[in-house]
Amino acid sequence: MFDIKTVGNPILGRTGLDAAMTEEELAIQDVTHRFAEEVMRPIGEKLDKLDAQEVVAPDSPVWDYIEQIDNSGILDLEAIGSLSDQEKSRIIPIIFEELAWGDVGLALTSMVLKFPAFAAFNTGNPQLIERFGKLRGCWVATQPDKGCELVDMDATEVAVGARQNKGNLHARVDGDELVVHGQSSAWVSAAPIAECGLCYIPCDYGDGLYQENGTMNYVAVLIPFDLPGVTKGKALDKIGMRALCQGEVYFDEVRVPMDYVIAGKEEAFPSFFGALTFGNMEMGISFTGVARAAYEHALAYAHERKQGGVAIIEHQSVKLRLFKMQQKVEACRAMALRAFSYNYGPNGPHLLASIDSKTFVTDTCVEVTSEALQLLGGNGLTKEYPTEKLFRDARTSQIADGENNHLALKAATWISREFKEKNGL
Ligand SMILES: Cc1cc2nc3c(=O)[nH]c(=O)nc-3n(C[C@H](O)[C@H](O)[C@H](O)COP(=O)(O)OP(=O)(O)OC[C@H]3O[C@@H](n4cnc5c(N)ncnc54)[C@H](O)[C@@H]3O)c2cc1C
Repeated sequence: MFDIKTVGNPILGRTGLDAAMTEEELAIQDVTHRFAEEVMRPIGEKLDKLDAQEVVAPDSPVWDYIEQIDNSGILDLEAIGSLSDQEKSRIIPIIFEELAWGDVGLALTSMVLKFPAFAAFNTGNPQLIERFGKLRGCWVATQPDKGCELVDMDATEVAVGARQNKGNLHARVDGDELVVHGQSSAWVSAAPIAECGLCYIPCDYGDGLYQENGTMNYVAVLIPFDLPGVTKGKALDKIGMRALCQGEVYFDEVRVPMDYVIAGKEEAFPSFFGALTFGNMEMGISFTGVARAAYEHALAYAHERKQGGVAIIEHQSVKLRLFKMQQKVEACRAMALRAFSYNYGPNGPHLLASIDSKTFVTDTCVEVTSEALQLLGGNGLTKEYPTEKLFRDARTSQIADGENNHLALKAATWISREFKEKNGL
């Protein structure tokens, strides 16, 4: 029982039902929120309206954003790296919900640009930190013929009797060098503006590309894009998250020092698993921010727009729809934070936690942004209001970082495996 003397309005924080945030957390949230509102929203809106090639041009507003976020110190890798796991599990989601509330394309641009640097710091190798720690990066994984298959690196979702495609990008070990040849998919985020890549590539270590069980040998390697033989494709045009550019990376017999390999034959899959676990976890909290932005716009609009003699909020059905949106935003955040807490906790990390969060939040975010657009009526469809952009951004998230149905299949496979192991089946 709660002993309540008087009943007033609920006390809601910036992100709704916030409980027990520390002063430090509130200060971080406040600084990030102001940056998201004052810097990211205006730049994100401009980028959304540009052609894909203009987004990556030398005079693009994206460079202004990159400079400002770097100067802000909000995403200082060393500062974040020095936090305890428990602090990371609380502070990283606070930052990313706010950044994505501002503009999710820009928030994820910042994350992916730092992926190779992050991987270099994780190795603790001073040579790699020196070479890659300050470079803008991207994550080269999928190929034209290997989309879901790349995510399914451990080949749990291959049809019986079949085997995965050979793919279009391969590496082979040649003495103290790795020779890389072929091309990535057109979907490599931030590739057009990146100076290096964290690359996961099928690799021939001298005994072929395939293992006996049908999986492929992989290598995880950091590749500077100023090496001879590296070129890039044009920026890809797509429906949403237009501030986050994509494009191909081509490799023509590129010779990379073996010193740049961060995970060889046995470690490449765990390394990829770790990267995807982090990526999916970030998607969960980021699209919580997008859902919240859409809900907030709809809530404000419902108090302004008059129809049927009153502000539309006074119609019961509108109230009900807004309540459902608010509830879904809370559910998204709860799921996203649970993944952070599991992954940084004593039993984590595991991709299952991140897939739970990523698939639930992105699917729910599509529902919330769609309902926000609907609540704005015809205005919701126009470029004058922000809801159509939020809906397009949300729709992109169901495929980025692993297609949701495919991720769900992999998650279900682990759930079944765990059950079988526990029950001796
Ligand atoms: C915005 C965005 C950003 C991205 N960023 C990056 C990036 O930074 N780096 C990178 O390398 N890639 C990136 N990607 C690529 C992304 O990872 C792939 O698009 C995704 O994995 C799906 O692959 P695909 O598009 O080739 O679809 P496909 O693999 O062709 O899948 C098509 C359909 O077939 C279904 N399907 C496929 N295999 C199976 C199966 N075994 N069982 C049942 N159904 C199946 C899927 O569910 C899907 O609906 C990005 C994509 C997007 C949209």
